[in-house]
Amino acid sequence: MEHRRPLIAGNWKMNLNLERALKLAGEIKEGLSDDIEVAIFPPFPFLFEVKRVISGSPIKLGAQNIYHEDEGAFTGEVSPIMIKDICEYVILGHSERRLYFKEDDNMVNRKVRKALEHGIKPILCVGERLEDRKEGRAFEVIKSQLEGSLRDIDASITIAYEPVWAIGTGVPARGEDALEAIKFIREVLGRDVRVLYGGSVNKDNIAQFVRYEEIDGALVGGASLRSEEFLGIVRRTAEVKGF
Ligand code: PEP
Repeated sequence: MEHRRPLIAGNWKMNLNLERALKLAGEIKEGLSDDIEVAIFPPFPFLFEVKRVISGSPIKLGAQNIYHEDEGAFTGEVSPIMIKDICEYVILGHSERRLYFKEDDNMVNRKVRKALEHGIKPILCVGERLEDRKEGRAFEVIKSQLEGSLRDIDASITIAYEPVWAIGTGVPARGEDALEAIKFIREVLGRDVRVLYGGSVNKDNIAQFVRYEEIDGALVGGASLRSEEFLGIVRRTAEVKGF
């Protein structure tokens, strides 16, 4: 099932400078020997140079965001048209965009549609905050994010389940809790989509997620900035998934 092929996606967020970005991309290219899908998401200004560095390798390139219009007076925004020739993927609905840039499900829905219209594959992030979980509302929040962000969309896209409390904290979800949430996501969507886990993944804990058939890989933040760590996650996933 091509659409469920394991994927390890590295979200570099707003880190590195050009020199370090190109070095990291080069190291990942050199070290990659496993046959699962690998995608990296550098900051916008580095995309074209990183593309050049990874050319000839199977590494896919993605953007960390796009705007939901093609062009116009939207100072500081990036149109899907500007990146669609080099980016296969785009991360949408990340909790940092929801929190710091006030993106709601309606806006995420418009972005998902725009990405699909231009042939860019969205990775849609959903996940509950700690207070949602404590109040027993985790699944309610996840359901409402899925339904809002995917309103009137039936394309088979990649979902990343990212509990907000696990992102950048060094405290990942337990494998069985991630599994439960991801099973729920599959149930809500009622179609066979690829679902990743994200939140403090590293090479030592990745197996606790990808050992489950329902978890197709990971969206990795902090650990994707170190080639040895990132390649370790890829390698371990390939081993566990039997690639
Ligand atoms: C993320 O931001 O998508 C993420 C999973 O970050 P980290 O791996 O650093 O928790």
